[in-house]
Amino acid sequence: MEILPLTPLDIPVSPIAPHRETTRNDFILSEHALPSAPDEFEGEAIFDSLPPLFRGHPEIHLRNGVMNASRRAAANVPDAEKAFFVADLTQVYLQHQRWLRCLPDIEPHYAVKCNPDPYVLRLLASLGAGFDCASNGEMSQVLRIGGVDPDRIIFANPCKATSFIRGAAKAGVDKMTFDNPDELYKIARTHPTAKLIIRILADDSKSICRFGIKFGASLDVVFDLLLKARELHLDVIGVSFHVGSGCYDPTIYEDAISRARQAFDMGGRAGYRFSVLDIGGGFEDARFEAAAAVINHAIDKYFPDRSGIRLIAEPGRFYVSRAFSLAANIIARRAPISRESERGVDLVTGNEEEPALMYYINEGVYGAFNCIMFDHQTVEPYVLSMDGSFHVSASEPVSASSVWGPTCDSIDCVCKRVELPRALQVGDWLGFNNMGAYTICAASRFNGFQLSDVIYTTSKGGEEARSALRSFAAEDHGHSL
Ligand SMILES: *Cc1c(COP(=O)(O)O)cnc(C)c1O
Repeated sequence: MEILPLTPLDIPVSPIAPHRETTRNDFILSEHALPSAPDEFEGEAIFDSLPPLFRGHPEIHLRNGVMNASRRAAANVPDAEKAFFVADLTQVYLQHQRWLRCLPDIEPHYAVKCNPDPYVLRLLASLGAGFDCASNGEMSQVLRIGGVDPDRIIFANPCKATSFIRGAAKAGVDKMTFDNPDELYKIARTHPTAKLIIRILADDSKSICRFGIKFGASLDVVFDLLLKARELHLDVIGVSFHVGSGCYDPTIYEDAISRARQAFDMGGRAGYRFSVLDIGGGFEDARFEAAAAVINHAIDKYFPDRSGIRLIAEPGRFYVSRAFSLAANIIARRAPISRESERGVDLVTGNEEEPALMYYINEGVYGAFNCIMFDHQTVEPYVLSMDGSFHVSASEPVSASSVWGPTCDSIDCVCKRVELPRALQVGDWLGFNNMGAYTICAASRFNGFQLSDVIYTTSKGGEEARSALRSFAAEDHGHSL
């Protein structure tokens, strides 16, 4: 199995102000702080409505963001230490290339719900991907970009409000899924020329987020549903499934594709000639090549004759998970009172369950870390900056610690137990990688906290992504929000 390596970190890691008395937010832009590549900080304005696109490794922009925050803090700017994301569009671009390489016959329709980031949507639109939308809001967000034909959208929510079906009809979005008879009646009334795709139940027992209890028609009702569709003069064009989000056993796709084959045969008996096989989402970054091998093999086995059959998929997290990193500021700390020094280097480590050192950061489970609650993710912080330096010595003593979000709710726990340097203090920064999927999009403003902003960059190898965006913009697409 081939796993695409992360772009190597090509930044010299050096303390920015060694041996200098600093306060925790007191960063100084020194020559050591950042590599001298001036164009990295000259953002390119590609789209009128969006922030500029920088260049360079995300770590550079995480560090630069931290230094900007300390400058703002020095100037008493409110919210100076606000948490922020860095999005590396090169990663999205590389995932698309990886998709085309491993699954060349399957057209990806990006699942917008996973991260409807305006740059991500524009990049994927410019690369010719399709989109899986679940609501009127998502459909109009994609269509407002411009340059995306409604035919590239699949309305892949099997249970839609009637007004949304009408909205789809008006917008020219014809492809939509269903898995029950009521949906057929609604569609027959409001969008009778829709191209329907029956969502069948797949075995989702090998996925972190299981969808089967909510969606999917089991094979024993599929034939009757198709007869009902026929009776209502509706056009069913194919079959879809979803193995569940975060699928950790790729062999499950083979079973799902064999079920889709049976549904295709039932379609034939009901008088349809199906032309679309939609293998849904669930693709995991680390297991993608393994999943692709299973899928290609199963499609050859169950669909040996593919003339007249279009293969599509609805990947979400695969595209964005790795592309976003988060920087969060330590806004408070709770440690046992130490007799040794104010620096809190004490030896009390708490018990197994409750580490004695508690850090409070300015992103939590009501914000971007909602992924911990809703998407069952576990997140792991690293020290982005400590005591005015981006360098943490390997010999720095660590202690078991817990990390908490900023709200007043005790459910707002980011990490129950993680080893962190004992000398971490208020004003230091923690970094989190792989924060692109099911994070920002579901963040709330509970307790009056703001959503974190995003800084955009393209790391090494990102020139294709940049020029795709540039030509897209030059064709006058993507400028209105
Ligand atoms: C959420 C969802 C997806 C995307 O799932 P990932 O696990 O992020 O790939 C695709 N299709 C449908 C219908 C979904 O609900």
